[in-house]
Amino acid sequence: MKNSVFIKTFGCQMNDYDSYRMLKLLESSGYTAAASYDEASVILINTCSVREKAEVKAYSELGRLKFLKRNNPALIIGVAGCIAQQEGKKLLGKYPQLDLVVGTYALTKVPALLSQIRGRRQKIVCTDMNGAEMYPAGSYVPEKHQITSFVSIMQGCENYCSYCIVPFVRGPERSREMTEIVDEVCRLAESGVKEVTLLGQNVNSYGRTLTPQRTFPELLAAINAIPGLERIRFTTSHPKDLSPELIEAFRDIDKLCEHIHLPLQSGSDRVLRRMNRKYTAAEYLKKIAALRKMVPDISITSDMIVGFPGETEENFQATLDAVAEVGFDDLFFFRYSDRPGTKASGFTDKVPYEIMIQRLTTLKDKQTEISIAKNKRLVGMTLPVLFEEKSQRSPEHMAGRTRTNKVVNSMAPERIIGTTALVKIERAHIHSLSGKLL
Ligand code: SF4
Repeated sequence: MKNSVFIKTFGCQMNDYDSYRMLKLLESSGYTAAASYDEASVILINTCSVREKAEVKAYSELGRLKFLKRNNPALIIGVAGCIAQQEGKKLLGKYPQLDLVVGTYALTKVPALLSQIRGRRQKIVCTDMNGAEMYPAGSYVPEKHQITSFVSIMQGCENYCSYCIVPFVRGPERSREMTEIVDEVCRLAESGVKEVTLLGQNVNSYGRTLTPQRTFPELLAAINAIPGLERIRFTTSHPKDLSPELIEAFRDIDKLCEHIHLPLQSGSDRVLRRMNRKYTAAEYLKKIAALRKMVPDISITSDMIVGFPGETEENFQATLDAVAEVGFDDLFFFRYSDRPGTKASGFTDKVPYEIMIQRLTTLKDKQTEISIAKNKRLVGMTLPVLFEEKSQRSPEHMAGRTRTNKVVNSMAPERIIGTTALVKIERAHIHSLSGKLL
């Protein structure tokens, strides 16, 4: 029970990565990972305020913790991440059960802050955005038998899309040194990791803030040379920063998987302008055409926001047209929600909720047709699959992914996990494929 920590995470992959790194730092300071709240002496809630849904869930979790603290006053409860950064000490007033509020710039200080709380029995708020500290080099210890891993290559963003809270809660863009990233990936590969996903809010602008400047394709080339590593992925990228060099990298860098997640957000130029996205639908389509010219089978996924303030039927139709024209392999759709403090939250021409839901359903139906048709084209093909885990389907099935990021389930022995094997695709579903191991 002593010095055991349970971290609950809300939101995106970036937050998963932050939670994992916090856990590793705490483990190196003598903590063990608790399996549940009941076994923990420290509970950390890592929050996200990028979408309303994740924010609501995080707040309701913070409320629930009041009962745990009442039953166990020695329990230390902390809140981290975007909500902590945004709300700071206001959270202590609202949730008296909290002992620690730690913002996005100070996650590496969590072990020291917990010691201070224990020593002085005082509450601490640490949301200072000066002296930003990236994860210390060499601090990452990969798990045994880990097959895939995230690697953060940069933090923050300064694109100021009008709907987005990230630049306010994660600060300006900062890239990690290339040598530090390569060193981390080397250690992952040595421990048996086969695939890395490079993470950042806008990975394709990587290196701009470094001296001397570096580029994302340079980083990809350096990682490509690491022995033992088989696959490289990245997320998320901004269409305005998709350079001709990065498009060529998909052809030239053999470990770079043929998949890109390139958020379009809307097919209407009027809406894109109000979103401050800095590209037009035509420019986006031109980049998609260039990608497909370079790598015809590349799979393309995207994010779309429905019901942005002022979005008309005509604007929404432009989104449907763009979706049909690109033929995305998959789409993540979001209903617009106000993020306090952003420019769009001040727009007065909000789209009524019912209309947003109708548009969301229409878009979802359209994409379902496209996703199934895309997956059906793969039936009969033989594809290399990196097996990652047991499938949820049955104990005899194992699950992995193609280079194009399609999930494949196949009857296979458990020892196949961690290896790449050929699978003949037999059936297509909306979000996955199934097939026979050759
Ligand atoms: S690029 Fe835009 S949407 Fe993405 S994190 Fe930056 S501000 Fe937010």
